[in-house]
Amino acid sequence: MRDVFNFSAGPSMLPEEVLKTAAAEMLDYHGSQQSVMEMSHRSKLFDGIIKEAEALLRELMNIPDNYKVLFLQGGASAQFSAIPLNFMNGSGKADYIITGQWAKKAYEEAKKYGNVRAVASSKDKTFSYIPKTTSKDFDKDADYVYICLNNTIYGTVYKTLPDTGDIPLIADISSCFLSEPLDISKFAMVYGGAQKNVAPAGLVIAIIREDMLGKARDITPTMLNYKIMAENDSLYNTPPCYTIYICKLVLDWIKGLGGLEAMKERNLKKANLLYDFLDNSKLFKGTVVPEDRSLMNVPFVTGNEELDEKFVKAATAAGFVNIKGHRTVGGMRASIYNAMPYEGVQKLVEFLKNFEKENL
Ligand SMILES: *Cc1c(COP(=O)(O)O)cnc(C)c1O
Repeated sequence: MRDVFNFSAGPSMLPEEVLKTAAAEMLDYHGSQQSVMEMSHRSKLFDGIIKEAEALLRELMNIPDNYKVLFLQGGASAQFSAIPLNFMNGSGKADYIITGQWAKKAYEEAKKYGNVRAVASSKDKTFSYIPKTTSKDFDKDADYVYICLNNTIYGTVYKTLPDTGDIPLIADISSCFLSEPLDISKFAMVYGGAQKNVAPAGLVIAIIREDMLGKARDITPTMLNYKIMAENDSLYNTPPCYTIYICKLVLDWIKGLGGLEAMKERNLKKANLLYDFLDNSKLFKGTVVPEDRSLMNVPFVTGNEELDEKFVKAATAAGFVNIKGHRTVGGMRASIYNAMPYEGVQKLVEFLKNFEKENL
């Protein structure tokens, strides 16, 4: 055990068991006398790793057979351009819901390629809630509707999906990937950067319904063309091999814990502990409306900037690191992804209680 609990929003904690396995296999992966870092991405050994990672992901997420799983690069941010280039090629129109900085960046990028509307936004209240929409809000002609499912910076999450009817729904799930079961059949595509909940940085996983492929604009860069990536089993060029290997270990770890239902139980237990404390505290309060609260990212404040700063300093010194809030929200943010043990949240709540006693 390490002495520090890491509440970083990303890159973030990885399960200790995974890091230990990776360390044990560092010099000699399965008797090959090679590190996974050193082997060809065309080798049998690596082929086994990437295939196993995909199979585990399909099993854990219950991904229907008519969806492709892609291992991509360029971060979630590269998909902000890839999505319009691959899909905004029918009417040339798309609808976006603006629930925070990441949705906004995706929207701004898509505007370069077509007729893009922001159909709803929660900017008026610093993105502290998920705006309500009905099917009438969306353009029937739109090539897709885009949402960010869990808003890492603001700590909101969709508990019910927008009703988009027949319009394909695309979601950025970077910060809630594998945190609980998700019905993939409701989406045309979900994708996420791995560095929040799945692996180290350098990998994006995209899950795309097959009928969505083949619509890309001619100018789409090859590396951003999902169809080409799918036809090449994510091996068009050298993929982030080592990150995919760690991803596979994380998926093994989740399976060992009982899969996504069990993961959700764990995550609910952690989040409820923290939210219950915040709801009853006289000093701290959560910044998100209760019905839209994320299980993964928990922003909170005292309402006094100096006191927030004092708290962050004291918490850091006590081993609760990377807990400073995003500059646009201020205060604190505890990111409690899958790898954060219950004990980490328990200790944080104890620390919060003591700080409250001493500072009220
Ligand atoms: C972190 C994050 C991103 C950005 O990811 P990069 O891999 O750095 O491009 C996008 N969307 C969400 C929801 C995120 O949490």
